[in-house]
Amino acid sequence: MDFFDSLINDVYSALNDLPQKTYEHSVKDCWTDIGYNQVILQRDTAFQLSGTGFNLITTSDIRNQIIVIGDDLQNIRDDRPFARISLVQIDDENDEQSAYELIRKIEYVKYHYFPDGFMLRTSSRSHKEAVRVAKTAVRDGISFQKTGSLLIEGYMKIPSVKGVCVIYVTYPEIDYSAFEKLAEKNNRITETLNHIVNSVNFDCSTCNLKAVCDEVEGMKELHFKMNGMK
Ligand code: SF4
Repeated sequence: MDFFDSLINDVYSALNDLPQKTYEHSVKDCWTDIGYNQVILQRDTAFQLSGTGFNLITTSDIRNQIIVIGDDLQNIRDDRPFARISLVQIDDENDEQSAYELIRKIEYVKYHYFPDGFMLRTSSRSHKEAVRVAKTAVRDGISFQKTGSLLIEGYMKIPSVKGVCVIYVTYPEIDYSAFEKLAEKNNRITETLNHIVNSVNFDCSTCNLKAVCDEVEGMKELHFKMNGMK
């Protein structure tokens, strides 16, 4: 599946020239997962990160690692914008219905990930993501390598997932709206894929997803194929 590859290239182009640190994923470095949604009150919060979080799926090779662009959790003092982008390599699914279901399954990983002192607030309808980091977690040495390793473990429980790179961005001088736009485009492509695998009747001239199909190579062909019209 390469429908999202151009978005992955856009992510790389947006970040390539910025200073970055790369960490290997390591099971032994995983931050503690407490197994339930923790509430961190304002008075117990060291800082809050607010921004965008999304996954980009590909069948190209992705190595298990964590990339940090900007300050790591130990060096942040105040609330600031951020982005979390997970590049996820999957097996090449022959059948598009299974590929769509796999994308949904990968999306749900963030709802089963409960790092101690790292309260994630997100919604299934939006790509907005906010994290409250507890003072105790900062004191105990939380870092993006540790939260990222835990998140990668969550993705890797899905048998078709072959590799994950989690990118955290906290760099102050960057246009965060660019990530929001990429996340919206990602949602539109996923929505179009959903329409294609579930819809029998189609008429491109009246379809509100035409803009996506015009832009993303292979989408229209896929719908034609699935309707036995090729
Ligand atoms: S191929 Fe046509 S009908 Fe199907 S999703 Fe794309 S624009 Fe819509």
